[in-house]
Amino acid sequence: MNAYTQLYINGQWLAPLAGGTFETFDPSSEALITRVAAATAADVDLAVQAARHAFDEGPWPHMSGAQRAVVLRRIAQGIRDRQQALAELEVRDNGKPLPEALWDIADTAGCFDFYADLAEDLDSHLEQPIALADERFSSVARKEPVGVAAAIIPWNFPMLMAAWKVAPALAAGCCMVLKPSELTPLTAIELARIADAAGLPAGVLNMLPGLGHEAGAALAEHPGIDKVAFTGSVPTGSRIMQAAARDIKNISLELGGKSPFIIFADSDIEAAVEWIMFGIFWNQGQVCSATSRVLVQRELYVPLLERLKQEVEKVKIGNGFEQGVLLGPLVSQGQYDKVLAAIARGQEDGARLVYGGARPDGFDCGFYVQPTIFADVPQDSWIWKEEIFGPVVCINAFDEETEAVRSANDSRFGLAAAVMSHDLERAERVARKLRAGIVWINCSQPTFTEAPWGGYKHSGIGRELGEWGLGNYLETKQITRYDSDQAWGWYLK
Ligand code: NAD
Repeated sequence: MNAYTQLYINGQWLAPLAGGTFETFDPSSEALITRVAAATAADVDLAVQAARHAFDEGPWPHMSGAQRAVVLRRIAQGIRDRQQALAELEVRDNGKPLPEALWDIADTAGCFDFYADLAEDLDSHLEQPIALADERFSSVARKEPVGVAAAIIPWNFPMLMAAWKVAPALAAGCCMVLKPSELTPLTAIELARIADAAGLPAGVLNMLPGLGHEAGAALAEHPGIDKVAFTGSVPTGSRIMQAAARDIKNISLELGGKSPFIIFADSDIEAAVEWIMFGIFWNQGQVCSATSRVLVQRELYVPLLERLKQEVEKVKIGNGFEQGVLLGPLVSQGQYDKVLAAIARGQEDGARLVYGGARPDGFDCGFYVQPTIFADVPQDSWIWKEEIFGPVVCINAFDEETEAVRSANDSRFGLAAAVMSHDLERAERVARKLRAGIVWINCSQPTFTEAPWGGYKHSGIGRELGEWGLGNYLETKQITRYDSDQAWGWYLK
């Protein structure tokens, strides 16, 4: 049996009921890696039943946080033990450079350890006494797992995005069904193997690779699901919200972005170039929080563009396994076509192409796109307003702080933003005016498991990571007791 043609349901590896598979490709060569099990609605139903049974009848939700933490730490260790192999699998399936994949896998393990700590911590404040104005009553607020969670994730950080949902859900005591993206399903399958080996009880984590409109839609609509945690595009997020509305499911959505980066003229030009590049070329720009709209104060605009171009020319493009590569291929033909179409649209709309804009020379196959810089971008153009999700940065000049803040906030998105200045008072002031869930000062993109992650406006609902991530998977129950010896005396006088 092919290692990837089975689904993980109720602690067992099963062929999909309809027997279907889909293909996953290496984006650097466009070659088939393997065929993968394609779950359909019938498999989703089985997986949800298994998770339901594990939650309603099984031990997991009733174990102490400390007991669950033991399993989470074993999962973290299992990931760490296989860091190199998992990172290599991620490079093959997603295309990212190996050092980035190694970093992702280390973060994935760290995420399980972090939520193991929070699970332990939960034991000591599971119930919080509530002071009531009426002394005849006493009350506690108690935290309980939300139930059966569906986690639907994208392809840009395949294993890490799984961890951001699986680790807090398991820490909270939820049981769940995980559906990875059909573009990058392989490391999620390995995660299920690692969780199984770590002794997670059957049915607590079920893992179903499958297509979005089939397995994903069936999962989001299933009445046995209490919570849907989704990361992906705005249109899919909206569909999931509509499906969830029917059963009033608890949802959290981590969606797209078009994040601004304001650079004041007093900034160090070298630092600005470094963080602009990290903000848009890391992971080939396929990053929801990528700072893809850069606003540079006029005095620095021309020298910064010149210096940025010099550095971008040096970026080594290639297969993620090659030493020194900083830009790998995009994840798929679809993403490649989308990014090149966006670049063409930018040129049609009158943006000035400063560098890139095409397939790099010397690549006969693979979904490679040059790192691309646009300047003087019309602020009503598609490329200034919409998410490209590729290595394309749009740069404009501004004069005044208020103008920069207004331009930065003039977006339907609000995931992240960044500001750079030597004047920390100004940077802090601007940070507080930006309408975004994450604001970086004098950097762009560093992400920490301890800190909240999520967006304003069309960028989503709710926060992942940190204690907020755990809160996503907890309900709050009030337990109130009548302590008085006096009869209540309303009906029985
Ligand atoms: P996508 O919406 O196409 O797919 C995401 C997931 O949803 C996949 O697993 C897919 O199979 C599934 N899906 C597709 N259609 C579905 C449906 N009808 N019902 C249920 N599930 C369905 O997004 P993508 O192309 O995989 O990812 C790119 C997007 O994700 C970008 O917009 C990016 O900004 C966003 N993203 C956001 C964050 C964040 O933290 N905010 C992180 C990573 C990616």
